[in-house]
Amino acid sequence: MSEKPGLHIEYVDADPVTQALCLRYWRVEGGRFVETVARIYRDEGISQTEFTALVKRHSRAWSTLIKCTRCGEPMQFATRSDYISRAERRVFQCAACTATEREQLACAKRLRLVEALERSMAQAKPLAQLDPRHCLYLWALLKYAGSEDLAYIRPYCQVRHERLTPLRDFDRDLINELWRNGVIAVDPESICTAIELDSQQNARVHFTGVRWLPTVQGASGVLLYERLEAHVLEPGFITAGAGPIKACCDQMALLECLAFLEMALEEYRLGYRAGEKTRAMVVTALKVFSVAQVCNILFRAARDAAAFYQRGGVSRDHAAKSVVGSFERLMEKSVANEWVVTPFRRNFNLPQSVLSRLVYNRLLGTDDGGFTGCHVTLPDCAAALP
Ligand SMILES: [Zn+2]
Repeated sequence: MSEKPGLHIEYVDADPVTQALCLRYWRVEGGRFVETVARIYRDEGISQTEFTALVKRHSRAWSTLIKCTRCGEPMQFATRSDYISRAERRVFQCAACTATEREQLACAKRLRLVEALERSMAQAKPLAQLDPRHCLYLWALLKYAGSEDLAYIRPYCQVRHERLTPLRDFDRDLINELWRNGVIAVDPESICTAIELDSQQNARVHFTGVRWLPTVQGASGVLLYERLEAHVLEPGFITAGAGPIKACCDQMALLECLAFLEMALEEYRLGYRAGEKTRAMVVTALKVFSVAQVCNILFRAARDAAAFYQRGGVSRDHAAKSVVGSFERLMEKSVANEWVVTPFRRNFNLPQSVLSRLVYNRLLGTDDGGFTGCHVTLPDCAAALP
């Protein structure tokens, strides 16, 4: 006996001739259709198109076995091929129940996000109490991804026209830091698929796919942006936030160098992710050299790594890793011999990031710190801070 279920036929038309025709189309025995479609329409002297249209118009075929697991409605088949492809299925949910369930899930997700937003708003700080670094980060994020009316922050994955920070990996850290510190919260209007509920109904968000809302006490939208900008550009902001601003500049200098190194190695098709050792080495170099000078040394180190690979006998990975040692040797030689390291110009492929523009050009009034004008080195910038 076949696994396939039988059919219950419902007729829309009371005409016995039409009913008989529909029955011939749908008659199934042992899971197989008794007659071929071609035989029926030829018998009747009509075209295949006319015949299938007639069957569709005048009859409905329901499964005698398979029912919606939620509401019990039997599975309905539109055509014979629909029956053949779906009749083996035992677990079935009808379209209406699927839509209802999807809607309920979306509501549950939204509810979790509304609760989280309310918690965040209840603990929101006024602008004056925000960490100066968070003020700079939020300023940059609003500038980078703020919606047209500044009502919300667009999903990170949808903004691709410029850079938020010098290094893409760090963009996520910036957003995460604002989120973890309650400066932004996930917007409940975010697209449903960017949020998942676990078995305990806790919401997990796809970090780069959700929209964000700033959670600052007393202001939102354009007003918040205007107040934030005024707050950051107040003369007292630099005085009060000298330490965090200096740390932010140091961080950006490091990121500029790492982004440059990544790009330089990519040009030689040597993929590389900077580890702690590289970071530490670049930080040390930045105590002596400007960003633009460090980029020069990194460029040479990348070129050496490429030459090392081309001599043969080593893997790309091994060659890429040799960049750290080369960089260290070049740096030590430059210092010991008091070489004048020519500053590099900013590479066209690495345009100045939004955060860098805001901090150097708007806040500190220096042009593209570390790059434009070799006299603007980071120690100078730091010295400019009272
Ligand atoms: Zn159902």
